Amino acid sequence: MSTAAATPAISLVIPVFNEEESLGALFDALDRAVPTLPQPVEAVLVDDGSRDRSLTLLREASRTRPWLKVVRFRRNFGQTAAIAAGIDHARAPLLVALDADLQNDPSDIPRLLARLDEGYDVVSGWRRDRKDKAVTRRLPSMVANWLIGYVTGVRIHDYGCTLKAYRRWVLEPYALYGEMHRFIPIYASWAGARVTEMEVTHHARHAGQSKYGLSRIWKVLLDLLTVTFLGGYSTKPIYFFGRPALVLCLGGLASGFVFVAQFIRNHLLDIPGQWIQATTLLQLAVFLFSLGVQFLLMGLLGEILIRTYHESQGKKTYLVGELINFDSPVAPHREPDNGER
Ligand code: UDP
Ligand code: MG
Repeated sequence: MSTAAATPAISLVIPVFNEEESLGALFDALDRAVPTLPQPVEAVLVDDGSRDRSLTLLREASRTRPWLKVVRFRRNFGQTAAIAAGIDHARAPLLVALDADLQNDPSDIPRLLARLDEGYDVVSGWRRDRKDKAVTRRLPSMVANWLIGYVTGVRIHDYGCTLKAYRRWVLEPYALYGEMHRFIPIYASWAGARVTEMEVTHHARHAGQSKYGLSRIWKVLLDLLTVTFLGGYSTKPIYFFGRPALVLCLGGLASGFVFVAQFIRNHLLDIPGQWIQATTLLQLAVFLFSLGVQFLLMGLLGEILIRTYHESQGKKTYLVGELINFDSPVAPHREPDNGER
């Protein structure tokens, strides 16, 4: 059976940043997992500008493993960009993303795929028994997960888990920015995909260090704001800004109307003009009305921007420096060796 240059059935997408201490174990785990998956398999490892020996180790590993592809970034663009690049360079109709530090367990992949087979489009890993620090990691993530579910209406327990399985069509329409890889299930669900979650194994980090601190919380919250805005109003910003514009303009008109009514009454009653200096109605009218007009103009600007956003094509959030092993055949089918289980 020739599988040379065949389209893979499964693409694994793995972001790698300064993981020299974990990569050896990762390659071993992949060597065990790959034969258990539908064939052919490819793994796209994205070196996100590592400053340690990660790239060297990836190069070496790719020599003996034709299914292991490497995308090297010119500098560190972040985990989300790395996942986005992995997705862009992966060719299979089914994709599974996971971390390189083996906190996710590659042996969970067949279960996720089985779930896709049941008719789902996204299967999101749920690190129910999460092995990270309680105060700085699990607690903020609990709050964030609740908030994201509440705001977006897409309720899963663990958005931040990288280990997720996707059908390709779900991923194609979006460019991923910031910390947004965690919001893929939300985009997907808004796009009509069937999204589910599944408990997965989570291990403590055995080697190397986490690349994140507390600052990620704020970034995730800001991203949530953007996602909600884009999700709700990306195609109609004028509606979003138009509503307050209407209220403000009506408020301005109302105060203006009351002012004119008072003006006419006082004029008819021959009340001296000093009252005009005491009333705030005129200022209020001018203020509210101009603010309303500003909001309208903001909406119109939004309309212009959104057209550029939707119609401009081919913009990426990263620069690829090199592609390794993309011309070689993907892994031929082989049965797991004895003892490999
Ligand atoms: N990562 C990356 N670019 C970055 C930071 C992280 O590609 O700028 C990768 C990292 O190598 C790992 C995954 O993203 O494979 C998750 O990172 P980490 O384990 O540090 O996050 P945590 O598990 O602590 O949330
Ligand atoms: Mg980790």
